[in-house]
Amino acid sequence: MEKFNFKKKYGQNFLTDTNLLRAIVSDAGVGARDNVLEIGAGAGALTTQLAEATSGKIVSVEIDRELQPILEKNLGAYPNIQLVFGDILKIAPEEIAARFNNEPFRVVANLPYYISTPIIFYLIESGLAIKSITVMLQQELVDRIVAVPNTKDYGGISVILGLYGRVTKTRDVPRTLFTPQPNVDSSILSIEIFPDRQEGIVEISKVVKMCFSMRRKTLSNNLVHGLGVPRAEVDKVLTECGIEPSARAESLLREKYIALTTALKNAKFI
Ligand code: SAM
Repeated sequence: MEKFNFKKKYGQNFLTDTNLLRAIVSDAGVGARDNVLEIGAGAGALTTQLAEATSGKIVSVEIDRELQPILEKNLGAYPNIQLVFGDILKIAPEEIAARFNNEPFRVVANLPYYISTPIIFYLIESGLAIKSITVMLQQELVDRIVAVPNTKDYGGISVILGLYGRVTKTRDVPRTLFTPQPNVDSSILSIEIFPDRQEGIVEISKVVKMCFSMRRKTLSNNLVHGLGVPRAEVDKVLTECGIEPSARAESLLREKYIALTTALKNAKFI
């Protein structure tokens, strides 16, 4: 690795601690035949541990072409790894599905922090057959995702991911374990996806984002603004769902957002 210049713009903070890398693979529940998508191969440290754990297909996406010779050297011994060079957000979900022959897969990654939220939304809105997502993220983001209603951390992302799967923080990881060392600590988030919840997640996600768009405003205000529908009609839908129009987004339980999305759809507002 001595000749490699780490690129801050790509969020390159690599891991080398074998015990931690094995712990990530174990938290992800990777079984001997599982297929895995990794986002951000880096120098291939996590990819190697994934390949030690499964004989299934491993597709590893990396944006930085400069890592290609390093990756080819480090991963050459594992025939089940496919390296894909490109920006994950620009790869069509169909291409990923095709690489796995449309079979389900797990996502395991130490994500680049600068785009970890867009990557998570890309995954959950892709319609891909994902069994679980286990990712290293900035600690504060994980704390927000696992937050409960009526707390300051509870936000749109906690609602949406909580509806998509069973969300748990599996461990905290100190910044000292990364090279170069970032300015923040990390945690591992695991999402065990509910198979029946993938349907409709794009619409639910749209409604939730709208409800949280201005945190200090009421649900009624955010929906009037976001949908461009008269207040009386928005309030009628809210009341029918048993939601007080003057309530704020952070006070609603996740399940209420499903009812609200269905009601807004029936009223042809979305
Ligand atoms: N997996 C390695 C490890 O754990 O040591 C590297 C993790 S590092 C935090 C994130 C990796 O994601 C970097 O190698 C970076 O180049 C890559 N990356 C950044 N943006 C990306 C994108 N849009 N698509 C694919 N990979 C990306």
